[in-house]
Amino acid sequence: MFGTLFKSLLAFFYPACCIGCGRELMAGEGLLCADCIGQLPYIGNEDSPCNPVFANIAGRVPVLFAGAVFDFKKKGIIQHLLHELKYNHRPEIGVFLGRIAGERLRGSSCFLPPDYIVPVPMHPRKEKKRGYNQSLRIAEGFREFFPEAGIEKDLLEKRHGSESQTRKNRVSRWENVKTAFCLCDAARREARFEGKHFLIIDDVFTTGATVESCARQILQIPDARVSVLTMATPV
Ligand SMILES: [Zn+2]
Repeated sequence: MFGTLFKSLLAFFYPACCIGCGRELMAGEGLLCADCIGQLPYIGNEDSPCNPVFANIAGRVPVLFAGAVFDFKKKGIIQHLLHELKYNHRPEIGVFLGRIAGERLRGSSCFLPPDYIVPVPMHPRKEKKRGYNQSLRIAEGFREFFPEAGIEKDLLEKRHGSESQTRKNRVSRWENVKTAFCLCDAARREARFEGKHFLIIDDVFTTGATVESCARQILQIPDARVSVLTMATPV
């Protein structure tokens, strides 16, 4: 009772605002107002083999499916949402985006439901500083539409941070990413992972080096199959 009263008072003095445009939200609206929801830049072919992420990654590493949901434009609403998610302590944005992705893929005939969802891990030091892993938050929202899938947040480990990345050239950056992730020891031992379908989830797809590296690690599991889902990519 007191909690509800407190929440109502808080909402009266500090009304929730749309993350996209800053307008005061109406009852029933969540993070975004109806206008901003209507303007989300869906790529629209995330479940087709012609989509840009699949075209990019399929020649490099064998994947069943790969796709992105939103077009990532500089200064666009998705860049803004992902920035707030990563740098402004808004973990609920990850869950929100994951739900949209889950709802869109649930009915797709091209998307095989995963046995395990694997959010791209962060270096523990970086995760501690941020307070959460944004890819795990996206995975949690996505899983609401695939409740049979388990989230395996510790299947992969991030071995080293990317602090020195900017000083490296393109080739050595790639070398760095290639060795940045490793399969945890338990995954090599546990029979429950053999022959299963793993869905790697990340926020943005640019060069694809991160998801390629993660996929290569998971494919060390006998008969494993891998799919990739990212929230956004520049089209
Ligand atoms: Zn808005």
